[in-house]
Amino acid sequence: MEFRFEPMASVSVIIPAFNAAATLSATLASVVQQTHADWEAIIYDDGSTDSTVANAQAWCDRDPRIRLLKGTDCGSGGARNEAARYATSPWLLFLDADDLIVPNHLATMLMAATTARPRPDLVYCSGAKIAADGRIGRPEIPPHNDHFKLLASRNLFYIHAILVSRSMFEKFGGFDTALKTCEEWDLWQRFARAGAIFSGIEDCLALYRLRPSSLSHNAELLFENARQVIMRGHSRDPRVSNPASAFAEGEPSQDGAQAIIAFASWCAGILIGSGKNSEQFLQRIEFLRSADPEIDRPVSMMLGSVPMGACALYEDWPTLWPVHENSICEAFAVIEKRCDTPDFAVRCINEFRAHLQSFDDWSERGDTKPTTANRNTALRSPILLMYHRINTVKCDPWMLSVTPEHFSEQLSILRQERDVVPLSWLVNELKRGKMPNRAAVLTFDDGYADALTNAKPLLEKHGCPATFFLATGPIRDRKGYWWDILARIILETKRLPDELTLDIRGIRHSWRSAPDQEDRTTEASANVLNASELYFALWNLLKPLRHDERGSILSTVADWAGTHADSQERDRILVPDEVRNLSEPGFVDVGAHTVTHPSLPSLDSAEQLREIEESRTVCEVLAGSLVPGFAYPFGDFDETSRSAVRATGFQFACTTAARPILLGQDLMELPRIFVGDWDAAEFDAKILPRQIDR
Ligand SMILES: [Zn+2]
Repeated sequence: MEFRFEPMASVSVIIPAFNAAATLSATLASVVQQTHADWEAIIYDDGSTDSTVANAQAWCDRDPRIRLLKGTDCGSGGARNEAARYATSPWLLFLDADDLIVPNHLATMLMAATTARPRPDLVYCSGAKIAADGRIGRPEIPPHNDHFKLLASRNLFYIHAILVSRSMFEKFGGFDTALKTCEEWDLWQRFARAGAIFSGIEDCLALYRLRPSSLSHNAELLFENARQVIMRGHSRDPRVSNPASAFAEGEPSQDGAQAIIAFASWCAGILIGSGKNSEQFLQRIEFLRSADPEIDRPVSMMLGSVPMGACALYEDWPTLWPVHENSICEAFAVIEKRCDTPDFAVRCINEFRAHLQSFDDWSERGDTKPTTANRNTALRSPILLMYHRINTVKCDPWMLSVTPEHFSEQLSILRQERDVVPLSWLVNELKRGKMPNRAAVLTFDDGYADALTNAKPLLEKHGCPATFFLATGPIRDRKGYWWDILARIILETKRLPDELTLDIRGIRHSWRSAPDQEDRTTEASANVLNASELYFALWNLLKPLRHDERGSILSTVADWAGTHADSQERDRILVPDEVRNLSEPGFVDVGAHTVTHPSLPSLDSAEQLREIEESRTVCEVLAGSLVPGFAYPFGDFDETSRSAVRATGFQFACTTAARPILLGQDLMELPRIFVGDWDAAEFDAKILPRQIDR
């Protein structure tokens, strides 16, 4: 890279760019239009594959104050560090290639930087968001005190709302490139710990463009990086050699646990706003033990992040709340469960509602205005429950069986707490925009014979309607499911041979068997499996295969184990006459579940359509009634499956995603909650409290 000496400019604007062709010009225009002309801009292209470089070069050709550096894959922190090495001005401004600064940004910030006493190391201003439709949000004014205390827990500034002294930046070695996100927060936190002088002005000079966020795809990475920054803020930080004495030890560790809950709420809000499920994220991440979590911070975090996830403004809450209320309740309920903190969710929701009262424009919206009076319904929404078998099955690796005793207990308690309704009734209510909050729906997948012998009698006894989703291939062939055959071969053969080698679609797979207790910690023994690990490994390989391919591999595995590949009486599927006896339209409904129970996305569109259509026709003949509902096998579907289900004329389709029903629920993706072999107490604890009055 060639370095040209340039006259001393008063501020260097550092612009890392990666595939930013769509936005870079607007960003550069906002720099070129500054009232203060004494600046240089350094664009650092981080290996873009779109026309970013050509765009940038055109700007360089037009304005000698703009330079372009090219690198590869440094990440935003690395790209900024790299570009800053070429900066010649005493002040640095980091501007991302999709953000904007207002025309008097540099003039106002430089004025503050040079006139404030004591002389600041860093000057910050207010910022605002730009919505996708161009509206600019209210100014967000950073706090003017306690910067270290606050930065220990959260970021306070938009990166382009900060002018930082270059010597200070260099003294700290720039951004920590080990962080993929949150690196600027980490740097400001280090500055604050070292006692750097922060000087703030209230002018709103930095505009942050809301765009469908990569953050929502990467909530876990964002959370992990933030967690690291928070942990650093709540302990010593060896990277800061001369901390201010008050900050040397960091903030108290108890506060770190609270900050982590708050940040988890932030990430959950981004996911919720972008229409994603936050529950899986919240279940996976690591919290710290916290005595009595406060609610202010999680609530204000989520108030900020849900609109961001939706690329909307804070002012848009009156439209966002009705759409996301259930997901927000659910997220707080999951945090409550993970942190074992009674009442956390209800307190958060009430606080949330109290905040939302302050919006004026609820008035035209009638009864959607949230009130604290209906707190008892805060955590309630309709639920769909998913069962497979009502039976006593010893060999049940997927825990799909619920014993008749437990099922009976579950129905009793469900009848007390909820209105158990037919699925088609609930769907009609949802279509009319109603949310029957007490509704619960029972569904059963796969059509095992115990549907008729065990499930239906108990449904009749408790007066609970249900829908059974049937795969029609096993009914026609009178043959059980491959996963039951595989389970019997692998898990019930007394002594399996030591080695198994299978060629599947041209790839050779080999495993060695291990005794259950053997300590297997080394990489080299990754293919040494005990019986249950071997079962799941084979299950994963067989699942995406075609029906006929799977049959021949099952035979090979059976031969290897010294047994047969037939299904057993106990895993029997309903025969056609039994389906006729099971079906009682309006009480016991039949739904379709394909012919061969494939993972639909593994098939081409013609095959998907055939599986879906044929199962509907056969189910209608067997049930003697229309079949309006479908369930995706394994819960797997893609756009092709959705359109095929719609084209076949189904009115609704069930997934296996465990969420409550939302207002405006997509009827082609109805969520369902898995029910295990739980007694009344466990069922009550796992299913009911998440969404029912406490
Ligand atoms: Zn199924």
